[in-house]
Amino acid sequence: MSETSPKLRAELEGIPTYKPGKPAATGGPVAYKLSSNENPYPPLPGVLERVTALAASFNRYPDLACSGLVEELSQRFGVPASHIATGTGSVGVAQQLVQSTAGPGDEVIYAWRSFEAYPIITQISGATAVQVPLTAGDVHDLDAMADAITERTRLIFVCNPNNPTGTVVRRAELERFLDRVPGDVLVVLDEAYREFIRDAEVPDGVTLYRERPNVCVLRTFSKAYGLAGLRVGFAIAHEPVAAALRKTAVPFGVSQIAQEAAIASLQAEDELLGRVGSLVCERNRVVEGLHAQGWTVPETQANFVWLRLGEQTVAFAAACERAGVVIRPFPGEGVRVTIGENEANDIFLKVAEGFRKEL
Ligand SMILES: *Cc1c(COP(=O)(O)O)cnc(C)c1O
Repeated sequence: MSETSPKLRAELEGIPTYKPGKPAATGGPVAYKLSSNENPYPPLPGVLERVTALAASFNRYPDLACSGLVEELSQRFGVPASHIATGTGSVGVAQQLVQSTAGPGDEVIYAWRSFEAYPIITQISGATAVQVPLTAGDVHDLDAMADAITERTRLIFVCNPNNPTGTVVRRAELERFLDRVPGDVLVVLDEAYREFIRDAEVPDGVTLYRERPNVCVLRTFSKAYGLAGLRVGFAIAHEPVAAALRKTAVPFGVSQIAQEAAIASLQAEDELLGRVGSLVCERNRVVEGLHAQGWTVPETQANFVWLRLGEQTVAFAAACERAGVVIRPFPGEGVRVTIGENEANDIFLKVAEGFRKEL
């Protein structure tokens, strides 16, 4: 055997591997997974039937252009079909966006802490990440992000609501920020949790995209629509960004099953958004419960809550696990807890209550 090994790109050194939410423990009495912001509801029967029927033809490649889904989305949002680009989850589309805009010597700005995929996809592209700390209230610091723009900036992510803190930026401040961004810098509004927002002051990114050619909106079927396991998301962007996304897509990345499940989900939107409504009620119940226990939590508009626990983070996650729920710890910072089944939320609240008393 040769002593040498294949030469890999230096940019890959030190890339953190994406950490999936821990699976629910097996073997215990009850186990709930509140670590990945998934939708706790099982697939709708109609969507499941569609998927099952399609399984009989997976010897065929899917529709490369995702035409049916693109057409459905184009009507749904009132945007030209050429402005829609699909991908393997919105993370896949986010990676294509970075690949399309930034390479070595270029800069990608995003808040920190924010979505874990941003540093990974930035580093893979060879571009330099510029991380702008959240404010003390765990909100995007848009002024500081605008200040961080240089001649090398190519792309800026704004995660609204922010993962993992659940906090939002509102219309006036976002518009003020966009006014400061040069027209040749792409702003990506990552709206993975858009359907969970109940604050009317949070703008729909699609309205901002309409007037601004450098704004791109990212959406996903993974959260509100419950299709996380099928991997389908999309961007709404003007040309030439949308065209670049079609060039950088992995051919046939979105399976026919995913495409049709997404179409069926859009057609069953009322029912799915009803489920989102129930999750929002649960979110409010959990947040009120935490407040009653004496916790301070940043206002969340997503399907999760953020508890800033600092050094207690790992101990808290372990206590949750012993009680039957797995959550997502960010050691030294805090925990992100998905709003799940009512019983799971109750277990989390109970652990939080016990923990609070010992602080
Ligand atoms: C979950 C999530 C996504 C979506 O991921 P998919 O690849 O579509 O499953 C994108 N952005 C953020 C901030 C998320 O939390």
